[in-house]
Amino acid sequence: MRIGILGGGQLAMMMVQQSEDTNFDFLILDPTESPPASKYATCIKAEYDDIGSLNYIADECDVVTIDFENVPADTLRFLEKRIVVAPSSSAVEICQDRLKEKELFINCGIPVTKYTSVYDNDSLKASIDYMGKNSILKTRFLGYDGKNQFDMEKVDGIDYLKECKSNQLILEKKVDFEKEISIIGVRMNTGKILFYPLVENIHKNGILNYSIAPYDDKKLQKLAEEYHKKISDKLNYVGVLVIEFFLDKNGILIANEMAPRVHNSGHWTNEGANINQFQAHIKAVANCELESISIKNHSAMVNILSKKPDLKNIKDFDYAYYDYNKSERHNRKLGHITLNNKNRDKLMQDLNTVYNFIKT
Ligand code: AMP
Repeated sequence: MRIGILGGGQLAMMMVQQSEDTNFDFLILDPTESPPASKYATCIKAEYDDIGSLNYIADECDVVTIDFENVPADTLRFLEKRIVVAPSSSAVEICQDRLKEKELFINCGIPVTKYTSVYDNDSLKASIDYMGKNSILKTRFLGYDGKNQFDMEKVDGIDYLKECKSNQLILEKKVDFEKEISIIGVRMNTGKILFYPLVENIHKNGILNYSIAPYDDKKLQKLAEEYHKKISDKLNYVGVLVIEFFLDKNGILIANEMAPRVHNSGHWTNEGANINQFQAHIKAVANCELESISIKNHSAMVNILSKKPDLKNIKDFDYAYYDYNKSERHNRKLGHITLNNKNRDKLMQDLNTVYNFIKT
């Protein structure tokens, strides 16, 4: 079976790598020169709206999936006329827009933080008057890893609309959260959903720095799974869908955003689960049956940002290192390290060492 992937980043790379022992074959579309996945699969270098390439993919592949959520929805709609696309254009389109995403959460009865739409300086001023400065301005589209986000308490005197080149924004009330957690679920087209345990995520400056799994709380696990099921059923979703939550000081789960794809907070599953998120996603989009998900021990994942570390100095550790073959750039995700241990205290100790080592 041939699977097309739109986007050839590290997520596509790992989908291919983790499918090594299967009958799946991959064809990737990416407009950039030598993206990470191109080392492992055939890659067409073309824009996402290149009709010739899209037709070629539709001719050659059995199903198409994505490596990032900002693949143009028109591209997905075009392909859908000829071939199965999973997740669907309508699901991806909602996840591209913070406003639509919030409306969906609300329609599904899932708490979100207070927010308003902002489209010019007057609406921003009115929103701040209503919400207070304890709020974050975000672009509705194309904001990730803290990009195009402004903490209203920290920055002053900026022409935000000019700065983010957008007049489609939202102002969100800052959540005074206890933790950030995510639920990773994979839905098959039969409607069956399998879940990984909750993951605790630690972000710095809007970027995921490290994750720890499982976040062991049966009540929250059940609630997060219920929320996920409401969303993924409503979207008739196929593949891995991740929802990121804030857990506030009162123990309330507040949805922040979702990703219609495999996710950074699920990288630990490569060593920490019987079937990892990449295999689970590919099997679901390929319409293969998935029995059950079980986890091994305690896991952690540390992102390598900006600069590649010299790993000689942590050679005594039992860890897995993933290099995305990218050049160094400030705050760019260049790779990650995963740790897995039977003993949670030892895992936390190793995580601390690795994290401090990578930070410096
Ligand atoms: P996002 O791109 O929306 O996932 O935001 C990136 C990170 O910024 C989140 O993981 C949080 O750490 C922080 N953040 C974003 N929105 C809020 C919010 N409304 N309240 C508190 N922290 C936030």
